[in-house]
Amino acid sequence: MTIENCPCGSTLTYSQCCELFHNETNIALTAEKLMRSRYCAYVLKNAEYLLSTWYKSTRPEHLDISQDNVVWQKLEIVHTKKGSAKDDKGRVEFNVFYIQDGEIQVMHEISRFKKVAGRWFYVDGVVE
Ligand SMILES: [Zn+2]
Repeated sequence: MTIENCPCGSTLTYSQCCELFHNETNIALTAEKLMRSRYCAYVLKNAEYLLSTWYKSTRPEHLDISQDNVVWQKLEIVHTKKGSAKDDKGRVEFNVFYIQDGEIQVMHEISRFKKVAGRWFYVDGVVE
C-alpha cells in the first residue's frame, strides 16, 4: 500500500512506519508506538489489528468500524507516562481530531497499556 505520510503523524511513509506493525514485521516497543499504530489502524479501518492489540480482558468480541462515518484528521500525543521498552505498563495522553457530521471535533483521552510477553496491549481509556 502506498501512502505518503503515515496517518499516525510521523514523518515516515506508511510502509516505513505503521505498516510494519500492521503486518507484524515489527512489534511496537513502546506504548506510544502501539498507540500510534492503533490510531493508524482506525484511520485505515483495520479492525483486525485493533482487536489483536487489545488486552484480552477488555477486548470486545467484535469490532465493526467499517461503517464509521468519522473522518480522522490527526493524532497529537500530549504526554506519556512509563510505557518505554523497559516498562510493562504505560499511559498515553492524546488528542484526536476528527470530522463528524461536517464538524471538527477533538477527543482527549488517557489510554492505559500493558505489556504481556514482550508485546504491548491497549487496556482501556478515559475520555475527558
Ligand atoms: Zn505510523
